[in-house]
Amino acid sequence: MEFKVTVLGTASALPTVNRYPSACAVNLHGRLFLVDCGEGTQMRMRKYGISFAKIDSIFISHMHGDHVFGIFGLLSTMSLAGRTAPLRVYAPGQFATLLSFFKANFAESIKYEIVHVSLGKITGPSIIYETKTIEISAFPLNHRIAAFGFMFKEKEPAFNIRKSMIENHALSLYEIARLKEGKDVVRPDGSILLNSEFAYKPYVPRSFAYCLDTAPFRELPGWVAGSDLLYHEATFDDSLEDMAVATFHSTARQAAACARNAGVRKLLLGHFSSRFKDLGELLGQAREEFPESYLAVEGEEIGIKLDRHIDKD
Ligand SMILES: [Zn+2]
Ligand SMILES: [Zn+2]
Repeated sequence: MEFKVTVLGTASALPTVNRYPSACAVNLHGRLFLVDCGEGTQMRMRKYGISFAKIDSIFISHMHGDHVFGIFGLLSTMSLAGRTAPLRVYAPGQFATLLSFFKANFAESIKYEIVHVSLGKITGPSIIYETKTIEISAFPLNHRIAAFGFMFKEKEPAFNIRKSMIENHALSLYEIARLKEGKDVVRPDGSILLNSEFAYKPYVPRSFAYCLDTAPFRELPGWVAGSDLLYHEATFDDSLEDMAVATFHSTARQAAACARNAGVRKLLLGHFSSRFKDLGELLGQAREEFPESYLAVEGEEIGIKLDRHIDKD
């Protein structure tokens, strides 16, 4: 059960020689999701071996160019690569005008359907995508224009029944089914089969939160609470806090304070202003607030570890 995150771009606003604008690939239970699509994303995907053909859906946080300028080139390449399956793009309402311009001018080169799912009405965490085992939700951020964060997470797994218990207690199929639902079972002789003794959860669900671009706000730590990995923008350092306030961005320290208050396991910093050639200072400030802070590195694959619950028998 794969859960991997690959940051493809870490620059804010404009690309630099070493940094591309925002984009991030998430592999979750065999599905590939692309989050944001700054200029050059398809080149980054090619470089890091991420398949165009496998993209399940695209999520766009907001309509600033550094998060969306790469999408038309990518949509076109996906068609040239033979895509015929419909593609859903989860994006703010304003994406509609961009998409209709694209369709009006380039429709003949696109051989699949592009469906825009508008995030426009979302005011708090809302599930926008789900399968039997995973769910993706969106929530509003605090930026100059409408912007959304995303939470990728595994659903709570069903209970497993301890193997030895099945034989030792000659469990019936009915009893197994009830215990798997999380219930206790009362037998005709009055004895009780406790779910807590007979069943266990095979693993702890994992989660990844994506928060670009945003100024700090009160609700955010609660919305990303307990994430295994939080990818949070850190456009500026302490010396430019005023600029962060004016542009609705965060400093590395503010990102780290969010991570600490949310009780996440690990914080990944990105969306760096091009004025920082060396990011050491920025990282140091974040680590003063939250030691498990790391700089995002383009192309580095981060696996989110699965904590298995062991069958005690
Ligand atoms: Zn940005
Ligand atoms: Zn922005």
